[in-house]
Amino acid sequence: MTTRVWDYLPEYEQEKSEILGAVEKVFGSGQLVLGESVSGFEDEFAGYHGVPYCTGVDNGTNALKLGLEALDIGPGDEVITVSNTAAPTVVAIAGTGAAPVFVDVREDDFLMDTDQVEAAITPRTKALLPVHLYGQCVDMAPLERIAAEHGLKILEDCAQSHGAVHHGRKAGTMGDAAAFSFYPTKVLGAYGDGGAVITADETTHGNMRQLRYYGMEKVYYVVRSPGHNSRLDEVQAEILRGKLTRLDAYIEGRNRVARRYEEQLGDLTGPGGLLLPATNPGNTHVYYVYVVRHPRRDEIIEALKEYGISLNISYPWPVHTMSGFAHLGYPEGSLPVTEKLAKEIFSLPMYPSLPEDVQDKTVSALREVLAAL
Ligand SMILES: *Cc1c(COP(=O)(O)O)cnc(C)c1O
Repeated sequence: MTTRVWDYLPEYEQEKSEILGAVEKVFGSGQLVLGESVSGFEDEFAGYHGVPYCTGVDNGTNALKLGLEALDIGPGDEVITVSNTAAPTVVAIAGTGAAPVFVDVREDDFLMDTDQVEAAITPRTKALLPVHLYGQCVDMAPLERIAAEHGLKILEDCAQSHGAVHHGRKAGTMGDAAAFSFYPTKVLGAYGDGGAVITADETTHGNMRQLRYYGMEKVYYVVRSPGHNSRLDEVQAEILRGKLTRLDAYIEGRNRVARRYEEQLGDLTGPGGLLLPATNPGNTHVYYVYVVRHPRRDEIIEALKEYGISLNISYPWPVHTMSGFAHLGYPEGSLPVTEKLAKEIFSLPMYPSLPEDVQDKTVSALREVLAAL
């Protein structure tokens, strides 16, 4: 069998009775859409973050898009973000009619280079959209200062950072609002699609309620256009309620896997060779993906296939170099660190239920491949 970077089946085996119990509970509840499972999950997910409001939506992309719209961002506005992210971050910005504006990332942690943000601000800039990529938070203090000085909103992209902590604050509690994805691979993953927006602001929350429900303020009466049908599904919400009680345990499990990689590969690391992910001071990492770096990445990935190991790259193409975003006007070479990283990064298997023998097999194959380079 091929070793993959992610697999939900070992976890499903452990949690099967609860997952199927959640399905039965919803099917027998008499309320299949926007019922007690969604509202219960919203309360519990808000509670986990210590914020008053949460709106469940259908996926992370729409969480970002509706979150921006709830902050009154739309056509004619600019939103500053990074190109080293999952494409949906940028798809969501473009979907509001606003223009994505990119800054580069830092070479040591692959996260938004906050030193470049001020130079990217124009009179049209309305928001900053930091992406807490791979499972640790962007440096928020400089962004909060810039946002306050220039009157900008902050929407956090937390699709990869459920439960991550930054100087004592949870990811998602530092901006004006935060968007989460519950896509199955995520640190808190559903058995299908899901997403949420959390906020401490009542007006933003009120906007979110309308935006996900056709733009309706009450049943059959639209007060906001455009609205969307972006409801979180009851079944996914009920499954997520159970999994939320184990989120901290999942994070511990991911950290356990990361510590084993450090123990098993630490002696091979060095400049110009293999680099393992570093955690910034003040951060707890939740390791959505375990991204390592090597200048001869492509050869390594090819060679590992011979061992039946198929690894992912998050992400192989910087968003600004994709043909669908050519109109944004960022030619090759405009974000040099992002472009360089995209050629050197790859991800090792990472999920809390990763069997130790699968991890060991991956590590020994990687050691052999590196020795033969
Ligand atoms: C997964 C992801 C999204 C999109 O979430 P979906 O639920 O797949 O729509 C957005 N941003 C980032 C950083 C992601 O990793």
